[in-house]
This record gives sequence, C-alpha cells and structure tokens, in this order.
Amino acid sequence: MGTPASAGNRCYFDINPAYFRVMARIVQKFGGTSVGTIERIQAVAKRVKAEFDAGNEVAVVVSAMSGVTNQLVDYATKISPLHDAREYDVVVASGEQVTSGLVAMALQALGVPARSWLGWQIPFKTDAVHGKARIQDIGADELRRRMSAREVPVVAGFQGVAEEDNRITTLGRGGSDTSAVALAAALQADRCDIFTDVDGVYTCDPRIVAKARKLDKITHEEMLELASQGAKVLQTRSVAMAMSHGVRVQVLSSFVDAPGTLVVNEDEIVEKEVVSGIAYSRDEAKITLVGVQDRPGVAAAIFGPLSDASINVDMIVQNVSEDGKTTGLTFTVGKADLERTVSVLNERQKDLRFARLVPDSNVVKVSVIGVGMRSHAGVAQRMFQTLAGKGINIQVISTSEIKISVLIAEEYTELALRALHTAYGLDQDETRT
Ligand code: ASP
Ligand code: MG
Repeated sequence: MGTPASAGNRCYFDINPAYFRVMARIVQKFGGTSVGTIERIQAVAKRVKAEFDAGNEVAVVVSAMSGVTNQLVDYATKISPLHDAREYDVVVASGEQVTSGLVAMALQALGVPARSWLGWQIPFKTDAVHGKARIQDIGADELRRRMSAREVPVVAGFQGVAEEDNRITTLGRGGSDTSAVALAAALQADRCDIFTDVDGVYTCDPRIVAKARKLDKITHEEMLELASQGAKVLQTRSVAMAMSHGVRVQVLSSFVDAPGTLVVNEDEIVEKEVVSGIAYSRDEAKITLVGVQDRPGVAAAIFGPLSDASINVDMIVQNVSEDGKTTGLTFTVGKADLERTVSVLNERQKDLRFARLVPDSNVVKVSVIGVGMRSHAGVAQRMFQTLAGKGINIQVISTSEIKISVLIAEEYTELALRALHTAYGLDQDETRT
C-alpha cells in the first residue's frame, strides 16, 4: 500500500499555460443507490465531470447497482447453501463489473476520457480468504500514469485477485468503501469522497433522534468506534484503513450538492468534542452463565470453544463470587451467533460445570463516543444518571479510552438515545458541551 496521503494540495501547471492552478487528486466512490438506475449513473458521470473539469485528477470506484449484490448472493445460496467460496466470489463480484463499464460509458458520452478497471486488472492483490479477502497490495502505477494523462479510471470496487490461487476475490459486504480508501492511499490522493444515500455522519441516527446534527468533521478514531458500534455509514474496515494510512475521507450524498462530513486525523480538529456521537446496535445477544466454578482456567475453558467456532464475543462481565465457589458470567455475541453459542456451550456443560445458561436477545448496545473523553471526567456518570433518570436499567457496561457502552433492554432504545443526545448537549440549535 502507498505511503500516507498528504493532507494538502499539490501544485501543477495546468494544460493552459496562461495560468496555473492548484489541483487535487481525488478518489470518488459511489455506492449502490448512487448508481441504482441509468439516470443515477448519468448524474454520477456529471459529478465526476465537474471535478475533472475543475482540473483535478479523479479516480472513480463503484459499487454494484443497489439490490444487485443481494440478488447474486441469493442465487448462490439457492444453488447450494454450502457453495464453494471461490465460485461465490465469481458470482457476487459481477455486479461491480457492470457498473464500472456503465459509468465509464456515461463519462465517455459526456466527453470525458474514461476506462473501466476490474480488480484483477489493476491489480488489487488480496489474500485467498474468499468472501472476505484482505487487500495486500495495489499496483497503482498504471492508473497514476493515466490519470496524469487526463484519463479517469472507473474501478470496480469490492473485487480483488488472490495471488495464491489466481482467482477473483471479494472484500466482504460493503467492501467497496475499503476498495476506495485503499486506492486513495495507494494513489496518495488528497481526499476520498464516499458518496452514499445519507449526506454525512450524524451525531446519532436521525431516523430515531430528530434533533441529530450533521457533523462537519470527525476523527478517524471516533468514526472507527461509531462504525464498529453500529453506525452503518461506512464499512468498519475502510475506516481502519483510512486511519492507518492517514486518508482524508468525506462522506456525502450524491443526491444533494452540499459538503458532507470529513473524517480526518485528530490534529485537523481544533475543538474536540467530549461526546461526538451516539451509536447503537440491535445486533446483540446476551448470555448469562449461572453457577460457574470460580477457579483458574474457567474463562479460558468457556471462551476457547467460542473462538474455535469463530464466534466473536464483545462485552464480558464476571461477578465476584459470594461463596468463593461459584460465580456468574455474562457476555454478548452477535444475534446471528446466539443459537450456535448456546449449543456450543450446552454441549460442554458437563466439562464447564455451570448450573444454568440464560440467553436473552432482547437487548441493545448503546455507545457514546468522543475523543474529548480522554481529558474529561464525569462522562460515564452523566450516561448512568441520564439512563437512571428515565428508569432504564443497565445490564452490562464496557468502556474504552474514547467510548462508553451499555447494554439495555431493547424496548428502551429510542428513549435512551434521545435522552443521551440531549444530556450531552448534542441536540440541534443548542450550545455544545
Ligand atoms: N456491492 C457490495 C455489497 O453490496 C459491495 C459494496 O457495495 O460495498 O456488499
Ligand atoms: Mg456501502
């Protein structure tokens, strides 16, 4: 992968020798809804043309038309639920091939020199973990050469090629965000614009909290927490990549002509918010083991088989033992993994020697996130007080340097989000904390 993208613009002499202007190298990524119809594809081409005509070097990354990848996954599953992962990739990668060709054509129709590129042609080299491959290296020289010769590459997102087996790979659902950020890093682009169906990153989900505000800027670290705690704007892996390569990302809508939210390094943000955003995830399930033996090795014995089964455990609490012999252990897993978790543990009940297992999928995880937390006390207390004030019981708590998460009963989701949004001074038209 390339070196970190520079934050500033570079100077070039324009083709017109009468004057020179500052140009930027920009990657523009368009998600499924942005290329969902022929009309939308034509509108996208106009956006690209405007950036190109302004003298910038532009590379485009596209997703499949909305709904197409779901349809392709569905086809594969209908043929065989246990289909071969290599053939799955061949099938699901095809959606992006279609849009890269169509967008290139639409650009050409507007007089913009454009060329489509599939993952293997660039190449986007990945490992051979089919279905969720990781990018290892991008050969960006040819693209860079063509861009400086005023051509617009239109890259099929989501795709790669594995050197190990010389076959097409895909990067996991939502992976074209990662394609775009990785390409921006490799091209040392000044910015990676991610066009989607929302116009930016909000302090909270605006469908639930009407007073949520669009953020002008947010740090990579906060965005990473927001994405991994349930905000669906960007694929989590793409944010991690932007953070490690210092890529400036802008999240914006292709439907409106307005600036979106910039995701940047912390040093670009002068005024750091104590809490920048509140995320929630309904994709949680809680498991409580009652009467667990309180002796060394028990946690390892319980979580070992779960990790062997590729089940991710998130929050964990163990109670102090009252009698010195047994204790209670509560933890969370993804809702989709609940049944498997229960059966893995029940199979081993004899060895693990717990008395009872209580599953509960009626929970939601609410997280408040902000880099300013590092230097402010009382942030957690405000969360606990606010929830207490609404009579909401906290079941599990976990914290990190810039995040506090609580698990509560699902029916309180809306109430909790709105109350916390107000308590942290995030409501629109209010002075911030
Ligand atoms: N088309 C792929 C998906 O739907 C990749 C993407 O859109 O980011 O998951
Ligand atoms: Mg997406």
